[in-house]
Amino acid sequence: MSKNKSSESVKVVVRCRPLNRKEESSGPVGGIVQMDLRLGQVILRNPRASPSEPQKTFTFDAVYDGNSKQRDLYDESVRPLIDSVLAGFNGTIFAYGQTGTGKTYTMQGAWLDPEKRGVIPNAFDHIFTHISRSQSDKQYLVRASYLEIYREEIRDLLDPNHSSTRGLDLRESPETGVYVQDLTSCVCKSIKEIEEVMNVGNQARVVGATDMNEHSSRSHALFLITVECSQPGPDGRKHIRVGRLNLVDLAGSERQAKTGVHGERLKEAAKINLSLSALGNVISALADGRSGHVPYRDSKLTRLLQDSLGGNAKTVMVATLGPAPAHYDETLTTLRYANRAKNIQNQPKVNEDPKDALLREFQKEIARLKAQLNHRRWRSKQKKEQVDCEDWGRDSDEEMEDEEEAVETETDDYVKLEEQRLEREKEAITEDQFLLVEEKQKLLGDLRKEQEATEQLTAKYKAMESKLLVGGKNIMDHTNEQQKMLEVKRQEIAEQTRKEREIQQQMLVQDEETVELRETFTSLQQEVEAKTKKLKKLYSKLQCIKAEIKDMNDEHVGSRQELEQTQNELTRELKFKYLIIENFIPPEEKNKIMNRLTFDPEEDQWNFQPLVPAQSKFSQMKKRPTSAVGYKRPISQYARVAIAMGAHSRFRAENIMFLELDMCPPNPSSLDCLAEAATNQTPSQENSPTRNRDIHKSSSW
Ligand code: ADP
Ligand code: MG
Repeated sequence: MSKNKSSESVKVVVRCRPLNRKEESSGPVGGIVQMDLRLGQVILRNPRASPSEPQKTFTFDAVYDGNSKQRDLYDESVRPLIDSVLAGFNGTIFAYGQTGTGKTYTMQGAWLDPEKRGVIPNAFDHIFTHISRSQSDKQYLVRASYLEIYREEIRDLLDPNHSSTRGLDLRESPETGVYVQDLTSCVCKSIKEIEEVMNVGNQARVVGATDMNEHSSRSHALFLITVECSQPGPDGRKHIRVGRLNLVDLAGSERQAKTGVHGERLKEAAKINLSLSALGNVISALADGRSGHVPYRDSKLTRLLQDSLGGNAKTVMVATLGPAPAHYDETLTTLRYANRAKNIQNQPKVNEDPKDALLREFQKEIARLKAQLNHRRWRSKQKKEQVDCEDWGRDSDEEMEDEEEAVETETDDYVKLEEQRLEREKEAITEDQFLLVEEKQKLLGDLRKEQEATEQLTAKYKAMESKLLVGGKNIMDHTNEQQKMLEVKRQEIAEQTRKEREIQQQMLVQDEETVELRETFTSLQQEVEAKTKKLKKLYSKLQCIKAEIKDMNDEHVGSRQELEQTQNELTRELKFKYLIIENFIPPEEKNKIMNRLTFDPEEDQWNFQPLVPAQSKFSQMKKRPTSAVGYKRPISQYARVAIAMGAHSRFRAENIMFLELDMCPPNPSSLDCLAEAATNQTPSQENSPTRNRDIHKSSSW
């Protein structure tokens, strides 16, 4: 893929969790993963190989070992991404790895322990702290959605009925790219509210699963945050920037054993792996850069992450590892996967003034409500002036302007004023002795209605306005200055470490290249020694690469065998279905069904076409058959002529349909009679539809 100016690669960081108690007690071998934090390298030891075999080394943007803190990972690798989202970029963080290696720990962590809070709660803090500290001319709107993909079905975790309804659909728009149709999105005004949203979704995940561990290791969870920010630009107009953040906790990447699985279970196993293997294919295709086609459409997950992988987004991938020797193969696969993802190039850009910004709609609605309130206020004031007969001389334009300002600043005062006015009028009406009782009632009713309408309008206005967060306001308790400073310093340190690591990595590469340039040999002997050393180094590199190729081959053979096995099982299943169809479904019925079926590539399934085409349904139903004009029922030309000639009772029965009766076969004597009758029949009866009816033989599948 060509590197253009705005393209940047996917950041890949690796995290290894500490050995757990069970792993520690099961063997004295210790972990197989070593990490060089300074260089960002992972060194993997093969527990089955001989000690002389070289170890595998991978280099990443950052690595975190078992002693690493949640905060370190956040400050160094995630914070810059969230800052970009707040500036209007799309951002994605996804955790990839085997079940039990710490994906959920990294993404969510232990919420109650400040030291163990994961990426998601830290991102909440970060976003709302940023808003509270930004300038007061900025307005923000924060929305959150939560979904999971389970067996290739998208479930809305914020919809209480999600388990009973069918999965949501994916749609694509040129503006926002791929999105989930009808996904619930909650406007959040504070950290507490967004945490509440997260909790509701997590609970829905637990309720929907019989076995939480089993479920979570098979479903992908996506928490989506949209931050819209409006700020006046140099042209004086308000510009909106929209940043979308996807926080993804993927299903466990280990291979699900498919052997001996049949029917429904087989389909389930195929679907569980579908999204992950599609993700692998997408990453390979993108990293390779040569293949033009990227198979995003192969699964729901890859379609949702389309922008994050090779599109308009900044992406961080956290690959999680376990240090136990038992999982060497899985750990190696994860590292290879992560290594490939490093090569993916994205083209992030700021989303400026998109058409579908909700903030713009909110602002318009607030302006409209404000204008309505303004109008009501103006009316009420006029009425008051009529009663008081004072202040006639004021210019009405001026008055309007004043009032507009007043509404902006004193909505509360206005409501009180309005209530007082209506109360006064009410009293006046009640006290007025000259009015009839009915009239009084009517006027009072009108007044009450007006009062209610005003209250409603004000409530709506306030509700709308409260959803927008204004920079600089106290959304959360302001941390004191010292803490702010501490955070800034921490960020600086994280930035410094990152830069240092980058430089170290660059140095390492350059060292190898320049070492031979610097070498000057004083004697032939020295030269031979140096060259032998170099040869040895290159030879060990060659061995490493050979081993790598062998591993890859083994892996490919393994996955091919698995695919072949799946194919065999699916073919067996298909044969079984064919057998049932060919032997137990009448061919005409089968044909009828087949003619009605159409394939929907978007949904990846077969659908039935409606029996009556949708657009002609009404016209057909409304129109009376032409043959029935003037008659109670459709009637043939022959009968019409016969009636015109003088109705003969014989023709009354003529329109009765011929119905074939399903009876037992006639005996030979009655067949003879029938044959005789047939020879005496008139030519018109010969052509009767019942005789010519032939059965359409269905073509084979
Ligand atoms: P996954 O989501 O990948 O299946 P979990 O996040 O549920 O795995 O982690 C499995 C267990 O390992 C949990 O009990 C978690 O507390 C623990 N764990 C994971 N990563 C770490 C870590 N970096 N430090 C300490 N404990 C961890
Ligand atoms: Mg998990």
